[in-house]
Amino acid sequence: MKSVLVRYHEVALKKGNRPYFMNMLKRNLRSSVSGLGLKEIESLPGRLVLCFDSTADREAIHQRVQRVFGVANFSFVERTSPDLKTLEENILQYLDGRQFSSFRVDTKRADKQFPLTSPEVNRKVGAAVKNKTGARVDLDNAELTITIEILPHDAFFGFDKIAGSGGLPVGVSGRVVSLISGGIDSPIAACRMMRRGCRLIFVHFHSRPYLDQTSQEKVRELVKLLTRYQFSSRLYLVPFGEIQRQIVAAVLRPLRVILYRRMMMRIAEAIARNEKASALVTGESLGQVASQTLENLSVIEEAATLPILRPLLGMDKQEIIDQARQIGTFDISVIPDQDCCQLFVPQHPATKARLTDVEKAESTLDLQALTRQGVGGAEVEEFRFPAE
Ligand code: ATP
Ligand code: MG
Repeated sequence: MKSVLVRYHEVALKKGNRPYFMNMLKRNLRSSVSGLGLKEIESLPGRLVLCFDSTADREAIHQRVQRVFGVANFSFVERTSPDLKTLEENILQYLDGRQFSSFRVDTKRADKQFPLTSPEVNRKVGAAVKNKTGARVDLDNAELTITIEILPHDAFFGFDKIAGSGGLPVGVSGRVVSLISGGIDSPIAACRMMRRGCRLIFVHFHSRPYLDQTSQEKVRELVKLLTRYQFSSRLYLVPFGEIQRQIVAAVLRPLRVILYRRMMMRIAEAIARNEKASALVTGESLGQVASQTLENLSVIEEAATLPILRPLLGMDKQEIIDQARQIGTFDISVIPDQDCCQLFVPQHPATKARLTDVEKAESTLDLQALTRQGVGGAEVEEFRFPAE
């Protein structure tokens, strides 16, 4: 079977957004299967059909389409003309050699002119299959599900329905800047925003040469992995060590992490403005560590004017870890590294930073110059999936 029928959730579509949504979904599907022999994408009422040439690798297509956000589910299908007799003959022919003891037929009729209703098609095709194979019908626990789609000019049938990733196509919600460390949380935060239709630009702060390069190498691996969901990514690697040295000279230990974070927000925001991105994303989770109390989060947020999105705010560590294992970032994130925030900071940072204290400490710093230094010193790397 060399076609894939893709179903998406109609409910996500508001009238005016529909063409935009569909174009993004098609574009993302095309990128996802690039190199796998896609011939064309056909738009049918409520469906898309991806047609591949005969060399197509089914397993590879399965894996790639399964990662495309906005896809509710999909099936490998065969096309026939929309009349019952041809449909039955073709299904029986394709079932030849398949072993199964129970089955069900699941018909969707997009063409209301078709002379039979969906339950009638289910019954007729079901009887034919039962007759030929001897398998019994089981509506709840069938070993094989035969899906049939009847459209005005075509019918499709297939023997599987594979769950997609759900969510919205990457791009429909706009661009955001993701602050990504080498840790467990920020890659998951990034992934959750992609699933809500955001296209991400990544920013990582490193303290080379004060610390080694592991965090940068981890971040490259993480971005490479996440690029499988948005097909191209840009990563800014911002040298932060010198900036940290100046902060250290200006402020007592307990407030340092807060000042680092505020400086990160200013630099990330400047990058966001250059990239026409409209929000920042972090992996912060309420109360997970001493620096992530409500008081601290609000002092950190005060340094930026763009909204700061924190999709993990209400999640437990274990839930975040489970997701990290699922998408494959966990093993990279747990590689030991030297994070820039460990540089020159105490074991016990302030848990309730006060804005007045923080602003007083910052008053001795040239914040604009530091921001320019961070943005100006950034190295930019591009990632693509599939890699060329
Ligand atoms: P993570 O697992 O994402 O590192 P964390 O639990 O270690 O999170 P913190 O170290 O307090 O938490 O960092 C909070 C957030 O600040 C991170 O999720 C990330 O968005 C951002 N951040 C921290 N360090 C960096 C860095 N070196 N570069 C870019 N962003 C960072
Ligand atoms: Mg961290």
